[in-house]
Amino acid sequence: MYNKHYIGGKWFEPSSSETFDVINPATEAVIATIPAGNKTDIDAAVSAARQAFDVGPWPRMSGAERGTYLRKIASIITRRLDELAQLEVLDNGKPFPEAKWDIEDTAGTFTFYAELAEQLDSNQEKPIALSEPGFSAKAVKEPVGVAGAIIPWNFPMLMAAWKVAPALAAGCTMVLKPSEVTPLTALALAEIAEEAELPAGVLNIVSGLGPDAGQPLVEHPHIDKLAFTGSVPTGSRIMAMAAKDIKTVSLELGGKSPMVVFEDCDIEKAVEWIMFGIFWNQGQVCSATSRVLVAESIYPALLARLVTEAKKIAIGAGDKDGVLLGPLVNAAQYEKVKAAIARGVADGAHIATGGNRPLGLEAGYFLEPTVLTEMAEDSWIWTEEIFGPVVCVKPFSSESEAIRMANDSRFGLAAAVMSADLDRCERVARAFRAGIVWVNCSQPTFVEAPWGGYKQSGIGRELGEWGLNNYLETKQITRYESDEPWGWYIK
Ligand code: NAD
Repeated sequence: MYNKHYIGGKWFEPSSSETFDVINPATEAVIATIPAGNKTDIDAAVSAARQAFDVGPWPRMSGAERGTYLRKIASIITRRLDELAQLEVLDNGKPFPEAKWDIEDTAGTFTFYAELAEQLDSNQEKPIALSEPGFSAKAVKEPVGVAGAIIPWNFPMLMAAWKVAPALAAGCTMVLKPSEVTPLTALALAEIAEEAELPAGVLNIVSGLGPDAGQPLVEHPHIDKLAFTGSVPTGSRIMAMAAKDIKTVSLELGGKSPMVVFEDCDIEKAVEWIMFGIFWNQGQVCSATSRVLVAESIYPALLARLVTEAKKIAIGAGDKDGVLLGPLVNAAQYEKVKAAIARGVADGAHIATGGNRPLGLEAGYFLEPTVLTEMAEDSWIWTEEIFGPVVCVKPFSSESEAIRMANDSRFGLAAAVMSADLDRCERVARAFRAGIVWVNCSQPTFVEAPWGGYKQSGIGRELGEWGLNNYLETKQITRYESDEPWGWYIK
């Protein structure tokens, strides 16, 4: 399965015999061996995308025509829903109902951007009022060109859709490099593009490792725009590499997102949203609710409920009925999260529950849902992204203290507030220095709304109309309307 790259509308023989293994994190068994793409493969993919953009039909057809292809892709994904969800479970480890939700959202993203592609036909030109008579001007939106996309492993197919769908809607062509940890559903997307008869070279997919395939894509002189989702260190390197050729870059990076829980909230509901915020997808969510600030008057009661409920979560392989927490994605992530917990404890944190491999699960990268307390505000565990089912909980004594603690971070992706007082919720939502704020909930994500972070959590916004704008340039066309000569040099 998947022993080639998808380039120029064909399954393309890899330029080298180098491969990498894909592991099922629930069993540690190898489930696929995939070509490790390199600079030669990336050159071929960029050249196919360049050709498709420069002389192919894609950027020249109407938005409505492009929308037809995006709708076809959405309907094939929907037809293959269960099979793609099963592939995501095998590759990433997440519980099947979550995987199914991801694939539904993937199809929904293509449908949403099909609509925006259709609307682009009437939105593409905007007249501009000028103060100078004798001239007219308009602003025209055009596709940026060839886009390079690099994505992480936590929502493999959905993260691909968040980039591919708006780029294609805008009229760009694309080279996508999925994460080497979870490449399978991105390669299935190539099959889907083929079945949808997407014109050759519009979408090219090359599997490979970051330094060998990702870096040549970032550095390629014929790429006009880079879209990256992943960690802050890689995002920073990509931005530095892109600076050489002044490539446009959008970055969706990490977070250490707070939730502030006030004393007037319903504790049961707050506990459920905290759990959804940190245990969903094994906590491997960029916007995960990893720091919880609780009003000191309800801190003991809330903590007790959280610990009780966390202990009840069914842990196991994602394809087993009733499981709500699967394994972490691979051995490296498992070791990283265990080391983070050990470091937190060494620095003085207390484990209220979890921290261990669950009993009876000998193979696979399983970790109990973990609740940590009593860490210092400047401790590593409180300030750094862990990317696992590990939540840090601290009490606060006043609204102003909670806001100060919530904003005291180099990240600014998401934040949440729980209170029965909606005026207070609005005040705190405005005070958060974060790109996404949830009120009386945490994590629900909608394709219509902007997604992205303040501070070191990224640059730019995905989803909604903002996601489409990522892949559009704005051109002004100014016309001299007067019959009079200009009369500057020649009188
Ligand atoms: P990562 O940075 O290790 O890898 C992301 C991608 O970058 C992979 O495809 C990898 O192959 C590639 N890459 C690595 N080195 C590269 C290089 N030198 N040049 C080009 N490409 C390179 O991140 P990850 O571990 O896959 O994902 C986890 C991180 O992603 C977390 O920090 C998480 O917060 C973040 N994330 C953010 C969002 C968001 O929307 N803000 C969403 C999902 C994940």
